[in-house]
Amino acid sequence: MNIFVTGGAGFIGSNFIFYMLDKHPEYRIVCIDKLTYAGNLSTLAPVMDNPNFRFCKVDICDRKAVYELFEEEHPDIVVNFAAESHVDRSIENPEVFLDTNIKGTAVMMDACRKYGIQRYHQVSTDEVYGDLPLDRPDLFFTEETPIHTSSPYSSSKAAADLLVLAYHRTYGLPVTISRCSNNYGPYHFPEKLIPLMIANALADKPLPVYGEGLNVRDWLYVEDHCKAIDLIIHKGRVGEVYNVGGHNEKTNIEIVKIICKELGKPESLITHVEDRKGHDMRYAIDPEKISSELGWYPETRFEDGIKKTIKWYLENRQWWETIISGEYQKYYEKMYGDR
Ligand code: NAD
Repeated sequence: MNIFVTGGAGFIGSNFIFYMLDKHPEYRIVCIDKLTYAGNLSTLAPVMDNPNFRFCKVDICDRKAVYELFEEEHPDIVVNFAAESHVDRSIENPEVFLDTNIKGTAVMMDACRKYGIQRYHQVSTDEVYGDLPLDRPDLFFTEETPIHTSSPYSSSKAAADLLVLAYHRTYGLPVTISRCSNNYGPYHFPEKLIPLMIANALADKPLPVYGEGLNVRDWLYVEDHCKAIDLIIHKGRVGEVYNVGGHNEKTNIEIVKIICKELGKPESLITHVEDRKGHDMRYAIDPEKISSELGWYPETRFEDGIKKTIKWYLENRQWWETIISGEYQKYYEKMYGDR
C-alpha cells in the first residue's frame, strides 16, 4: 500500500505519519508538504531515514508537480491534511485559505481521477457546522447537521467538503470525509490555544484569553484522531462523512486553568483580550456513527492526554522555541502586542 499524506509536516499530519509507519510497517508513506510557516521538516526527522518514507516539498495547488508525483509513485490512497488551518489568520488574509483549502483539494482529486485511486480521504473539521448555543448542552453536531460556517477558514473547509462529495457523485471518485473536533498533543504549532498557553506559562508571560474564555471546544488527543482516519480509509464506506470527537467539552478558560495547575503557575497570568471576530460559542460532536460502524472511540482521557502533552512540550523545548523565536514572533506581536 502506498499512501500520500499531504500536510504531513504539520501537527496532525506528522502524528498520522508516525502512527501509520508504526502500525503498518509494510506501507510506503509519501509526505507532500509545501512547508509553509506551519510546516516543519525537523518534525519529520525521526522518520527521514525510514526506507518506507519519502518527503516531497510540493504545493498541492501545483498541478504539474502533483501529477508528476502521481506518475512516479502510483499511490493507492491519498489522505489530504494540507490546509491553512488557523482561524485568526483567515480573518487577516482569507485568500491563501481559498487557494490551498479549496483549489488544492480539487487538484489532488483531479490527480486521483486521472491516475486512479482506491481511496481519497479529506480531513475536515467540525467547524463546518458553525456553532451551538451555550445554553443547549443537549445539542451535538451529527453528520446531518447543515453546513453553516462562521470564518473564512471554516468556509473554505466546507467548500472543499462539498467539492469532495461532488467528485464522488459526478465522477464516482471513492471518497471519505472525517470531520474532527479540536486536536491536542505533540507537535502542535504554538499559535494554537494549548501550546501557546504552555509556552507562555513556562516563560511566566501573560496568558491571552479571548473575551471571558467561555467558548466551549471538544478536545481530542491527536493519536485518537489518527486511529479514526486509519479505520476510515480501510473500513469506512465510500461517499460517507464521519464525525470524530472526544465527548470532552471544556471552556477555553478551564483549559488555561488546567495548564496553570499542571505547571504550578498562578492564574493571575491570565489576561483577557478582545474577543475574536465572529467567535463560535460551542462545538460538540456526536461520534455515534463512527463508533457504531467502525468501533472507534476516544481512548485517551483528557486528564492523561494533557499531562502527556505538557510533558512533551517540556522535553522538546528546542522544537517550539525555534518556532517562537522566528517568523511566528512577528505574527504574535501583531496579534497580542508585547504581551
Ligand atoms: P497545520 O497548520 O499544523 O499543518 C498544515 C500543514 O499543511 C503544514 O505542514 C503546511 O506546510 C502544509 N500546507 C499548507 N499549505 C500547503 C499547500 N498548499 N501544499 C502543501 N502543503 C501545504 O494543520 P493541522 O492542525 O495539522 O491540521 C491538519 C488538517 O486537519 C487540516 O486540514 C485542518 O483543517 C484539519 N483539522 C485540524 C484540527 C485541529 O484541531 N488542528 C481539527 C479538525 C480538523
